[in-house]
Amino acid sequence: MSFSTLGLSNEIIRAVTERGYTEPTPIQMQAIPAVLSGSDLLAGAQTGTGKTASFTLPLLHRLSSDKSKGTSNGYPQIRALILTPTRELAAQVEESVREYGKYLQLNSLVMFGGVSINLQKQRLKGRVDILVATPGRLLDHVQQGTVNLSHIEVLVLDEADRMLDMGFINDIRRILSLLPKKRQNLLFFATFSDKIKALAAGLLNHPTMIEVARRNVTADTIAQKIYQVDRDKKRQLLAHLIRRDNWYQVLVFTRTKYGADRLVKQLGEDRIQALAIHGNKSQPARTHALAKFKNGTLQVLVATDIAARGLDISELPHVVNFDLPNVPEDYVHRIGRTGRAGASGEALSLVCVDEYPLLTDIEKLIEQRLPREVVAGFGPNLDIEPEAIANGRQHRPKPGSDKRPARTAKLSPERSAKRKVAPPAINGDKPGARSSASRRSAKRDR
Ligand code: AMP
Repeated sequence: MSFSTLGLSNEIIRAVTERGYTEPTPIQMQAIPAVLSGSDLLAGAQTGTGKTASFTLPLLHRLSSDKSKGTSNGYPQIRALILTPTRELAAQVEESVREYGKYLQLNSLVMFGGVSINLQKQRLKGRVDILVATPGRLLDHVQQGTVNLSHIEVLVLDEADRMLDMGFINDIRRILSLLPKKRQNLLFFATFSDKIKALAAGLLNHPTMIEVARRNVTADTIAQKIYQVDRDKKRQLLAHLIRRDNWYQVLVFTRTKYGADRLVKQLGEDRIQALAIHGNKSQPARTHALAKFKNGTLQVLVATDIAARGLDISELPHVVNFDLPNVPEDYVHRIGRTGRAGASGEALSLVCVDEYPLLTDIEKLIEQRLPREVVAGFGPNLDIEPEAIANGRQHRPKPGSDKRPARTAKLSPERSAKRKVAPPAINGDKPGARSSASRRSAKRDR
């Protein structure tokens, strides 16, 4: 199937072809005709499936083919609103809007917190057809009377599940109350939950429902491996792997902002150039780090889950989990940064013995046992399998072994509780399981 059979205008097809896409992805094949028909949409699709173009292309088509709208009393009006959970995702989506709409006469604007509000106010005085925003900063503008949402024809909630996890529900409700009743609503989520169901029930009118398969993390394009490592040797192992294998572009995930900063500092001491992006970094610092990483002048980007959410860095060759995530689904999101759009990639996890219960949860979720490897000189001083800990068995040193007894057999109550989180499938998620963990680390985006 080609893009030309989907009913999109020549200008849009030209932009898409120039971008190098030859045929629509499954979500695009289903969503584009549905959105063009004017229907509301409830779509389950993760980052990496081509979901951004699946709503952006028909949105651009719709707005550009109905030019009668878009002004009120001679003043230009905002016609489409795209809400995203994070600043990076907002920036990326708006970039796509510009790219796919480059042969159309439509203007877009992105607004998020952490940068000057005055510049955004200035831009809002001009023509804006499509506004891409994070909820917090949008409401700041609402409060200051600098944005008018009363002519919105299409609303897109991108990664709505993550917005709910981050505690944006009241902000979303407020924003909804400012929109005209008659409009088209497109709701995208990665993981279905009762909260999404409730949001969809109140928002959507006879929606078309689409769900593309959960990204198959066992795909040949992503080679996954576990490095069993001593807790105190993770940083040395990472530096060793970067040097040994000549990695020139690696995205490293840590669980905490503090851990990210510390790792950057330590890698710097090893003369490996690294920068971090996380919620405590200023927006210019985040943008700077991401730009350097994307253009190949930064070797290592260290990120927390929230900051990295939705990052689109094409053909990223290596993703490293310096810490395993607390929530198994985040493992899938993290490694989805590599091996994208057909390119091959490698996802490596440095797992110390404390993290074996988390590893067990991840393997349950992806229904796969990941291959283990120990690099000589960096291995754990215990030979214990995750299953042993998961089953609560005590480690017994082998006869004649001089290894110390397992300190890991004692799991903290927090870790033990985490082990219970293992939602098996997209429709089987335990609501709240992921949200509580994500919420803890989330930060309102103002
Ligand atoms: P997304 O799921 O929107 O984050 O997109 C993931 C990646 O797929 C982005 O790098 C897009 O540029 C790329 N992409 C989107 N649509 C297509 C397509 N039809 N063919 C090839 N790549 C695509």
